[in-house]
Amino acid sequence: MTAVLSLRDVGKVYPGGVAALAGVSIEITAGELLAIVGPSGSGKSTLLHLMGTLDRPSTGSVHIGGNDTARLPDRRLSALRGRLLGFVFQQFHLTDGLTAAENVATGLLYAGVPRRDRRALAAEALARVGLAHRAGHRPHELSGGERQRVAIARALVNRPALVLADEPTGALDTATGHAVLGLLHRLHEEGTTIALITHDRDIAASLPRRIEIRDGRLVADSARGSAAVSAR
Ligand code: ADP
Repeated sequence: MTAVLSLRDVGKVYPGGVAALAGVSIEITAGELLAIVGPSGSGKSTLLHLMGTLDRPSTGSVHIGGNDTARLPDRRLSALRGRLLGFVFQQFHLTDGLTAAENVATGLLYAGVPRRDRRALAAEALARVGLAHRAGHRPHELSGGERQRVAIARALVNRPALVLADEPTGALDTATGHAVLGLLHRLHEEGTTIALITHDRDIAASLPRRIEIRDGRLVADSARGSAAVSAR
């Protein structure tokens, strides 16, 4: 099976000497839905930045869709990121002056898609998250749950190999958060590969695969069994 993302023995030391991650190895296969779970300060954001090629590791390697990211200069890395990855953030990060459809279309800016096609693809992505009827609304006219669904549509519009969702329900009330999780489950059933970063153990427990990090180390991976992890 194809690994869409592969981290091998990845470590990150920040300037000043903080070792935020050490010896982390993760393989994500096409079609997976997994949680990366850990308490505050365990290294989740650092890991997300490395998986998303927003930062480079101090040691170890990161491969995305078979490409060794260490070999790519920043410009080629941005292009790879735009083509293969989609991002969903806790605070949605939508642009206020743009409609839902225009926000979704920004997910295609780096893909070289002509303007006319961008509109059609954005409409299709909004329909996938059940928001076709809100295409012309601006973010301030939408509820929190709707905003996050727009952000999810933006992450999906380019059909990325992997969606990275950073605490996607963290800014939502419980019921709305459940609905957004339900949407992620449905997208996974339709074939989307999703890694969700969370501090919430209940959310992690509801996903098919769980990777647990603590103090910058991977301490459990339900796909490998904890014995295999602790033996490393
Ligand atoms: P989490 O997302 O799980 O809360 P982080 O990845 O943000 O964890 O942080 C892991 C560790 O790395 C913490 O000790 C944090 O203080 C440290 N850290 C995070 N970012 C930086 C940075 N830019 N410079 C120095 N230390 C950092």
